[in-house]
Amino acid sequence: MKITILTIFPEMFAPLHQSILGRAQKAGLLEIREVDIRAYSKNKHHNTDDAPYGGGAGMVMLAQPIVDAMRDAQGEGFCGKRIYLSPRGQTLTQKKAEALAREKELILLCGHYEGVDQRALDLCIDEELSIGDYVLTGGELGAMVLVDCIARLIPGVLGCEESAQTESFSSGLLEYPQYTRPREFEGLTVPEPLLNGNHAQIEDWQLEQALYITMKRRPEMARAYLEGRKLSRKQKRIVDGVIARVEEEEAQERLEAERRQALFLCALAQGGEKG
Ligand code: SAM
Repeated sequence: MKITILTIFPEMFAPLHQSILGRAQKAGLLEIREVDIRAYSKNKHHNTDDAPYGGGAGMVMLAQPIVDAMRDAQGEGFCGKRIYLSPRGQTLTQKKAEALAREKELILLCGHYEGVDQRALDLCIDEELSIGDYVLTGGELGAMVLVDCIARLIPGVLGCEESAQTESFSSGLLEYPQYTRPREFEGLTVPEPLLNGNHAQIEDWQLEQALYITMKRRPEMARAYLEGRKLSRKQKRIVDGVIARVEEEEAQERLEAERRQALFLCALAQGGEKG
């Protein structure tokens, strides 16, 4: 896959050329290229921004350098997606990353300041993507997040394809806890089922843990995972066990909250009597 990043800060992308992504590029599985938008500015000071029409705080990135950089980057016969990193965009999910990992080519546009002249977006952008409901100073960190999560889904990049499939979100559940050597660390031991080499038991334990963590942290995700899913008798036993455990814990938490509330009201009443 070829990914071109249009930015006014190309030097920010050094991390994308290290580690796993660096090796993938050396192996020819991936090509990541940064294009400096400033080099396309026809303005005599090579400016890339100006004050917004209608007033308001901050500057807006000029359409001309972006449109020219984009046209140059896509060349003839471009058949990928052109994405603007933006807080107004659809939020990035693992599913979206999986879809984008199937593209041959991507061009990412990083905004800065108050954003980009709308006409550059109208002329050159296929979709806007946000990396979350918060505002960054620029699209560069967003582009790095997007490139990293897409790149690791490209066959061959991770080396061990299975690991991308069993991870949080890909399987539909958050991932179970992981352990490595030593067996005991500061009094904490590795759970017994992981040590006996029985693969069926290991899988059961991993499913149980993944379900438990997902039910506690992302109940809506656990519900979606279980809805309409065909479970073997053994898996059903595991699911029922986890549901019972979570319900029991929730009941305990409710009791504890009621106890605290009663203590608080009691202390208030006593304070009132004294006053
Ligand atoms: N004025 C814009 C708004 O209110 O929507 C925010 C502009 S932001 C300060 C500057 C740039 O950072 C944006 O053009 C975009 O490229 C990038 N950016 C900010 N937040 C982002 C997010 N959550 N996801 C992706 N890119 C983001």
